[in-house]
Amino acid sequence: CGIVAYVGPRDAAPILLEGLQRLEYRGYDSAGVVVSNKGLKVRKVKGRVADLAKVVPARFKGGLGIGHTRWATHGVPSDENAHPHLSSDGRIAVVHNGIIENADELRAKLVADGVEFASETDTEVLAHLIARAVDENDTLEEAVRKTLKSVVGTYGIAVIDAERSGEVVVARNGSPIVLGIGEKEMFAASDVAALVRYTRQVVHLEDGELAVLKADGFHTFASDARETAKEPLTVDWDA
Ligand code: GLU
Repeated sequence: CGIVAYVGPRDAAPILLEGLQRLEYRGYDSAGVVVSNKGLKVRKVKGRVADLAKVVPARFKGGLGIGHTRWATHGVPSDENAHPHLSSDGRIAVVHNGIIENADELRAKLVADGVEFASETDTEVLAHLIARAVDENDTLEEAVRKTLKSVVGTYGIAVIDAERSGEVVVARNGSPIVLGIGEKEMFAASDVAALVRYTRQVVHLEDGELAVLKADGFHTFASDARETAKEPLTVDWDA
């Protein structure tokens, strides 16, 4: 339902929580965040963003993170089914809006290969598939692109890798993603409402596009991996 991502010099957690609060008006049943700081630190709960904020400790430091508010489609609302979803080795974290239509088939293949699932969601297959792909590809961007080729359905996603703590990869197909450009920091969200407190400079992704965000900027790519040139827009918003 709602996505927020941050990479930059500030602690991500308060920015993610604030952004998620601004997406509450869309409705949701659970919420979660993950921050990268010597491994991924995750908190996720069934309930409100305010409930999540209570269980995110002050020691959640780190300038890279992603957050989500979930509107359940596959699996009941529960702590386990809340996003982010992690790969079994704890290296990759994914938040996702939308529906993976071939999730059952992808899950069955992974289970047959010995992967243990921690949730009932369609989303979790993405975390396991990306984790496998990062072992075979040089960049997180390549791993995400390769994984999305095997996926049928709709998504806006944000992905982080504990071993590449300077970047977030986002992608969209049928579910919005907007980038927010800050001063030596980058944001992304499913809705500009989550960004306007921090920046008015935004870039909307098109279906099939993927973006790599680092503190010092961003790159966007078409589905054939060619870089696309995107001009930032200035949003006019009474925040
Ligand atoms: N299909 C995913 C789930 O049920 C994402 C739902 C959403 O868009 O929040 O967990």
